[in-house]
Amino acid sequence: MNTRGTVVLIEDEESIADLIRMYFEQEGFRLVHAPNGEQGLDAVRDRDPRVVLLDLGLPGIDGVEVCRRIRAFSDVPVIMLTARDSEIDKIVGLEIGADDYVTKPFSPRELVARVRAVLRRSEEAPRAPSILEVDGWEIDSGRREVRSAAGDVVRPTAREFDLLWYLAENGGLVLSRSQILEAVWGYEYFGETRTVDVHIRQLRKKLEGLPIETVWGVGYRLGP
Ligand code: CA
Repeated sequence: MNTRGTVVLIEDEESIADLIRMYFEQEGFRLVHAPNGEQGLDAVRDRDPRVVLLDLGLPGIDGVEVCRRIRAFSDVPVIMLTARDSEIDKIVGLEIGADDYVTKPFSPRELVARVRAVLRRSEEAPRAPSILEVDGWEIDSGRREVRSAAGDVVRPTAREFDLLWYLAENGGLVLSRSQILEAVWGYEYFGETRTVDVHIRQLRKKLEGLPIETVWGVGYRLGP
């Protein structure tokens, strides 16, 4: 029985798709595979999946564009599958609204763990709305927006906001990348903490002047 819900996989390489299908079906997901962006978008529209796994390098519409188009009609969590670590740098600047990135080759087991983590988080009860203040900035968990001292309003993506909230809740403390991964993404440290750096970079770009400090060799710290 498929009790965990549907995952849409948009991936042009059959061998990777077969491997992912095997693991996800073992875990009780229904896996819908689309070999290109067009069919992938249709599948996301028609099947109402709980998670989308999206390859970056696709024939026709590439993964970046597919992610953008998904975001135009859906908030479904999207995990990007990228061929190289360096591709993450390229796509991060595009602010396409992906929730997570996994670099190939990845272990299917890790991918399953990430999907489960995404689902756990989306099922958690929403926290009571409140506002944290950092150096003149207001971080508003009710509206999920950030206001600068000058009154500018910024709405980060869901994941960026959760990351910022975690840093703010622990304001002034140095947090390691693996600590952040576990708290915000909900999975154990798999050796890939790059996702954290990517999302920090996005936050810095969107919230220029917010004091997010890099603590060399350790992680990050928010606060003056
Ligand atoms: Ca590909």
